[in-house]
Amino acid sequence: MFLIRDYRKPAILFGLLMLFTFVMVGCSPTPAAPTPDLQASVDGEALTAQPSATPTSTQEPAPTPVPPTSAPRPATTPTNVAATAGNAQAVVTWSASSSNGGSPITGYSVTASPGGATATWSSGALTATITGLANGTAYTFTVTATTAVSTSAASSATPATIPTATLTPTVASTATATQSVPWSACDSANSPVATYSYQDGGFQFDFDINPASSRVKQVFLGTTPTMGKRHQWDANNTNGFNLHHFRRTVFEDLSATSFIVPMLSPTSVPVNVTVTLNAQLEDASWCTALLVDNFSYNQGLQGADAITIPEGVTIDYDRYSGFTVPQPLAESVIYAMSSNDPYQERPGWMDVPLRDYPAKLRVALYGVPTTTHWQIAAELIEVIRAIAPDLDARFATTHEEVTMPLHVTACPEWKIKTEEHPCNSRGMDGSFSDGGYRDGGLAETRGYLWISGSSGYTTTLIRHEMVHQMGLGHVKCKGSISIVPDYQGQYWTASDLAAIVVHQEVRTTHGMTMDQARSALGIPKDSRWEELLADRSLVCENQVAAYDALAAKLQSNSE
Ligand SMILES: [Zn+2]
Repeated sequence: MFLIRDYRKPAILFGLLMLFTFVMVGCSPTPAAPTPDLQASVDGEALTAQPSATPTSTQEPAPTPVPPTSAPRPATTPTNVAATAGNAQAVVTWSASSSNGGSPITGYSVTASPGGATATWSSGALTATITGLANGTAYTFTVTATTAVSTSAASSATPATIPTATLTPTVASTATATQSVPWSACDSANSPVATYSYQDGGFQFDFDINPASSRVKQVFLGTTPTMGKRHQWDANNTNGFNLHHFRRTVFEDLSATSFIVPMLSPTSVPVNVTVTLNAQLEDASWCTALLVDNFSYNQGLQGADAITIPEGVTIDYDRYSGFTVPQPLAESVIYAMSSNDPYQERPGWMDVPLRDYPAKLRVALYGVPTTTHWQIAAELIEVIRAIAPDLDARFATTHEEVTMPLHVTACPEWKIKTEEHPCNSRGMDGSFSDGGYRDGGLAETRGYLWISGSSGYTTTLIRHEMVHQMGLGHVKCKGSISIVPDYQGQYWTASDLAAIVVHQEVRTTHGMTMDQARSALGIPKDSRWEELLADRSLVCENQVAAYDALAAKLQSNSE
C-alpha cells in the first residue's frame, strides 16, 4: 500500500490556508447544496471523449487458386475475424475459408494473444467464445481452419480488444410500502416527518406537521458508505470511489409537505450506503432515523456509460509527438528515487522504490471538477504521452475503462466532522493512493487521486498529486512541483519530467531498488554515481536539458 497525503500549502499560500482552515473549522455549519454531491457532467453541450484509435484493418490476400487436379491442400485462411470483449472473455466471429483445399473443413480454432488461450468450433454459426482472459489486458485473436488433411495458416489478427469487469450497481431491494420514520433520540413532538416510502429510485417523505412552527431548523437525507468500508476510504475494492457516497441532500423549503429525494449512484463503482434522515433542532440537537442500512443503488452512473468531457476542454494527443525520449541520466534516476518527506518526519533523503503500475493510463474526473480541472488533466495526459508512450495516456471513454480516477470534492462542514473522511479537521488537500497495488488490489488500475476542490490551488494540486501518481515522492528540489511545503513550483520541471521517465520506462519495473533501476537502464556505477549519492542536492541542478523545451511548452500551454 502506497499512499501520499498532502496536508499543507506552499508558503506563498500558507496565509490563505490558515484563513481557509479557520473558516472551515470555526464557522457555523453551512448547508450543503441540495443536489447530489457528484456528477462529472456539466452544463451545456458535452463533448464525448475521443475513442481510442482503431487499428486499421489489414487487407486480406486473395485466396490462392486451387489447381483442380492437385492433392488436398490446407484450407485458405478464415477472413473478417472480429472480436467483442466481455467480462474476462471475448466473442470471436469470422467468415469461412473461401477454399477447403479439397478436403471438408472439420473445425475452426481461435487463439488469443497474449496467453494463447484457445476455443474451437465444430458446427453452427461461425463464432466462438474464449474465456479465462485477464480483464484490462489487450488481446488480439486469430482463427485457423482445420481439415482432415491439415490446418490453415492463421488469419490476420483482430484489432486489440480489452476484456473488462462488469461494474453494474446492484438493484435496490428497498422498495417498500409507506412506513413511519424511525426517529431515535428525538421526542415525538419534534418529529418533523411522518412517513416515508421508497419507490422508483427515490425516497418520498411526507410531513404531517409544519416544520416552520416547530423547533426543526434543518432536515437532510444523508448517505454514508456502509460500515466495513467507511474506514477504508483508500480500500482497493472501491478504488476510492466510496468517498463520493458521503452525501447530504438538504430539504431546502421546510414549509413543503412532501419531498422526493432521487437516489442516484454517484459513481459507476458499486458501493452500498447507509441512508439516514436527520433533523437538526433549534437548540442544535439532532434527531436521526436509520432508513436503510445497506442500500444498493439501481440508478446513476453505470460502467458502460460514456464519459463526457466538458465543452471548452481541449486535448491534442499528438501535441508533443515530435519529442524523443532520451536515455536517462544518473541524475534522473537518483532524483526519481529519492524522497525528502516532511510529513513523515524524515528530514534527510531516503530511497523510495520504483513505482510503476502496469495498467494503461485512462483518466476521468469525478466529483465537482471544473473545466479548469479537466484542462489540467488534459495537459498532463498530453505530456505523459510524449515521455511515457507505452502508457497510451488518454481520457477514458467509459467509466469502467478508467484506470486513474481523479476525484475533486468540496469539503463542506459536515464532511470535515467525519473523521474517516479525508475532508477532516486536518484540512486534507490532496492525496494519491495506489490502493494496495501488489497487496491484492488495483492490479488493473493506476491508483486514484483525491483533490479538495475547496482548496485555493487545486490546479497545482492536480499537477502535484499526479507527479506522485507517475512515481515521484516528495523531492527536495526548489522549483519542483513535488517539493513540500515550501517553494513548490506551479508546473512540472524538466527534472520532474526526466524523473517520471525513470519510473515509467519500459526497462524499469515496479518495486525496483535504485541500484536495480540504474542497472536496468544501463547507467554505470561510476564515480559520478557515487558523487551524486553522497550529495543528493546535486541532482536538483538542471542536468536534464533535453526536457527543458518540453517543460517550457507545458508551462506556456497551461497559462
Ligand atoms: Zn505530495
